[in-house]
Amino acid sequence: MTARAEAELMDATDALAHFRDRFTIADPERIYLDGNSLGRPGRATEAAIAAGVDTWRVRGVEAWADWIELPRRVGDRLAAVCLGARPGEVVACDSVTVNLYKLAHAALDHRDHGPVVVLASEFPTDRYVLEGVARARGRDFIRAPSLSEAFAQRDAALICLSLVDYRTGELRDLAVGSDTSALVIWDVSHAVGAVEIGLSRADLAVGCTYKYLGAGPGAPAFLYVRSELQEHLRTPIQGWFGQHDQFAMGSSYEPAEGTERFLAGTPAILGLLALDASLDLFEEAGMASVAQKSQALTEFAVRLSASWLAPLGFQLASPLRAEERGGHIALVHRDAWRIARALIERGAVIPDFRRPDILRLGMPAMYTRFVDVWDGLARLRTLVTTGEHLGVDDAPRRVT
Ligand SMILES: *Cc1c(COP(=O)(O)O)cnc(C)c1O
Repeated sequence: MTARAEAELMDATDALAHFRDRFTIADPERIYLDGNSLGRPGRATEAAIAAGVDTWRVRGVEAWADWIELPRRVGDRLAAVCLGARPGEVVACDSVTVNLYKLAHAALDHRDHGPVVVLASEFPTDRYVLEGVARARGRDFIRAPSLSEAFAQRDAALICLSLVDYRTGELRDLAVGSDTSALVIWDVSHAVGAVEIGLSRADLAVGCTYKYLGAGPGAPAFLYVRSELQEHLRTPIQGWFGQHDQFAMGSSYEPAEGTERFLAGTPAILGLLALDASLDLFEEAGMASVAQKSQALTEFAVRLSASWLAPLGFQLASPLRAEERGGHIALVHRDAWRIARALIERGAVIPDFRRPDILRLGMPAMYTRFVDVWDGLARLRTLVTTGEHLGVDDAPRRVT
């Protein structure tokens, strides 16, 4: 048994606790454990969007003189604050899906034979995009059942995998790809803002900013290309924002220098301004402290679920060791869908459900308290103990 007082004590000694005050908690009774799907907005992030609208109103098209720099400037901040990459290696743009498409084609220009390999458990968009790119280029497409089998494909041209598995929360080692001759694209969507990342050890990466980074629904994603590779790679989407001298409006396309050649069309400025403001928080807190608190939160959740939830038929699907986890944990239960619905409708806890039987609990360090973890899991335990979840409507929904 763990008393709530223990959670209160951890909050009292948490050096990052005050960052929660930088967020407007609209419904304090509700426990939000889904920040790994859509992070909460910080107050400064909200203000940055409003200020962006003001600039638009007041300066109109003149504001582009400043806005035009944002994909690169915010990319550099992401690189420095969260990704462990060098200036000029990251641009913020488009969605993860589109960025993957661009990097996959660019990578295959450089590997003229060999299959495209994706983990079978990979996030759906990654599997779909890579399958489509492989088909378009006449390459075999292999769904590898495990990491070791992915890297066992000796002749692979391109391998795509996530740094943190979106379902189980397993954190992988960027070094696993170091002795393959394939180009590896790392998807860090579920890692950025939760764990420390040293991207300098990787060639190519993509990630999103609306999860732990809290830049808002549909905020721009980012892509990373190691400096040494940049001049050798070309985007398959030859848009004017990736053009060498954009406003010369020249007759044919010539790629810009550096990662900016991977920009395509007009960037989503309000999202970039929101992301810039969100990064202020991470810069102030320091990614090392954020990652450390994130581990402590998932560790607490794992400990509570072992004593409270395992006897109720829940099984931990996440790694047991905190250093091998991202910022969420996954619990398997055969009634996971009904339990997720009951938690939302009757427990005022927002978890996340992944088919067929996974309940995910996300704990962004910036605003999640240890008492939130304690209360959330206590409500979950009560709900399943009393069988209350058996009474909810379990009709399938479009968004889960
Ligand atoms: C959330 C997530 C995505 C999202 O892709 P979008 O194109 O931004 O919708 C992609 N990959 C992983 C691993 C994710 O967790």
